[in-house]
Amino acid sequence: MNLDPHYDVAIIGAGPSGATAARYAAEDASVLVIEKKKVIGVPVQCAGFLPKYDELAELMPDSDLPDTFRYPDSCVYAETKYQRFIAPTGDSKQFDVDANVLDRKRFDLYLAEKAVEAGADLCIGTRASAIDGMSIEISGMWGSRTIRADVIIGADGPSSLVARSAGLSTIEDDPMGVAHAVAYDMTGVTIDEDAVEMYFGRNFVPGGYAWIIPHGDCSANVGMGIRSAMCEPGVTFRDYLHRFINEHPIASGKLKGGEVTSFIAGIVPVGGARQKTCAGNVMIAGDAAGHLIATNGGGIPTAMVAGKIAGETAADAVNGRCAVEDYESRWKSEIGMQIGTSVYVRKLMDGMMRSDPMMTAVMNMISPAHMKAIQRGQLPDAVKRLLKGMQKRIG
Ligand SMILES: Cc1cc2nc3c(=O)[nH]c(=O)nc-3n(C[C@H](O)[C@H](O)[C@H](O)COP(=O)(O)OP(=O)(O)OC[C@H]3O[C@@H](n4cnc5c(N)ncnc54)[C@H](O)[C@@H]3O)c2cc1C
Repeated sequence: MNLDPHYDVAIIGAGPSGATAARYAAEDASVLVIEKKKVIGVPVQCAGFLPKYDELAELMPDSDLPDTFRYPDSCVYAETKYQRFIAPTGDSKQFDVDANVLDRKRFDLYLAEKAVEAGADLCIGTRASAIDGMSIEISGMWGSRTIRADVIIGADGPSSLVARSAGLSTIEDDPMGVAHAVAYDMTGVTIDEDAVEMYFGRNFVPGGYAWIIPHGDCSANVGMGIRSAMCEPGVTFRDYLHRFINEHPIASGKLKGGEVTSFIAGIVPVGGARQKTCAGNVMIAGDAAGHLIATNGGGIPTAMVAGKIAGETAADAVNGRCAVEDYESRWKSEIGMQIGTSVYVRKLMDGMMRSDPMMTAVMNMISPAHMKAIQRGQLPDAVKRLLKGMQKRIG
C-alpha cells in the first residue's frame, strides 16, 4: 500500500468513532486511518445493542446524527422491542425501546467502507506504536515508517496511546471508572426474543448488571459489566458469568443447557469524559475520551457522534475555519449533558448496588418511563430526589 509521508488528518483506530471521524474528515481533508486489527471488527468486543434511529434522535436531541446510523439490514442480527430490568428479588419492569442488535463485524466494516468511499486511506494490520508531537511511528503488515499529520485523532479505545502521548488523562487515572465486560455468544437458549434483559444483584453481578441480548433463532449474547472493586476476593469475572448462567433463579431457566459459541471481553470506561479531550492539534474521541453512557455501558452512539464532531473539526481546522480546541465545546454541546448525567447517576447507583434490598426498593419506586430516561443519561427531578434520599440513608 502506498502511503503518503504526510496527511492533513491521521486517525488511530477504525472502530465506530475512528471510522466515523474519517468519513467526515475525508470530505474536506486528506485522511489516513491506522487500525491494528488485521480484519476490521475482529475480534468483536461488544454485545451490539443499538437503539434505532428515532430512539437515538431522542437520546441525543442536540446532535446532528451521523448518516451512518442508517446502516444496511445486513449489519443487524435481530430487532428488539423492550428493555426489561430484573431486580435482585426477581421483580421486573420493562419499557419500549426499538433497537437493533448489531453484528459488529459487519457494522464496523460498513463504517470503514464509508470512510474509504469518502476518500480516506485505511491501513489495517498496522499499529501506531509511538507518537511524538505530530509524528506517528507505525508498524505492521505494510512495514514500519513514520507518518506526519497536521491533526491527530485518537479513536483508539479505552487504553488510548494517543491520549497518553498527548499528556491527556486516560482510564488508568480513574480506577473506579473502569468496568470489565465479559460475555458469551450462546445458542440453544430459551429467551424472550423481543426483549433485552438487564439483571441486577450483588451476588451475581457486583457493581453492574448482567444482560441477555437476543441474536435471533434461540441465540443470544449473555454477559455482564462488573467493577472489580466490588467483587468477592478470589472470584473471577468468568466465575460470575458462569454463576449467572447456571444459578440465577430466573436467568438460569433460560440459559442453562445452551451452547457457548464464543467469548468476548473488554474494558468499559464508565468514569465519564476526560476533563480535557484535546491538546494542541490532538483530539480524542469515543472510548478513548470516555464518551459513553455510564449507566448502561453503551458507547456506540456517543462514540459515533463524537467521531463525527472530531472529523468535522479536524477538516475545519486544516482549512482554517476553526481551531482544533473548538472540538471540546462542540462535543459538549451535543452529548456532554447525557454523558455527565449518566456518570452522576452511576455514582449514586454504586451505593445502592452494595445492598440488594436497597437496589430492589429503588427499582420498585422508579417508574418504567423514568428508567428509560435514566438509560438515556437523563435524570428526572423525582428520581434525583429519590436517589439522594436513599443515599443519605446508607450514609
Ligand atoms: C463486552 C462489551 C460489550 C459491549 N456492548 C455494547 C453494546 O451492546 N452497545 C453499545 O453501545 N456499546 C457496547 N459496548 C461499548 C462499545 O463497544 C464501545 O463503547 C465502542 O466500541 C467504542 O467505539 P470506539 O471506536 O471508541 O472504540 P473501539 O470500538 O474500541 O475501537 C478502537 C479501535 O482502535 C484500534 N486501536 C487501538 N489501539 C491502536 C493502536 N495503537 N494502533 C492502531 N489501532 C489501534 C482497536 O483495534 C479498535 O479497532 C460494549 C463493550 C464491551 C467491552
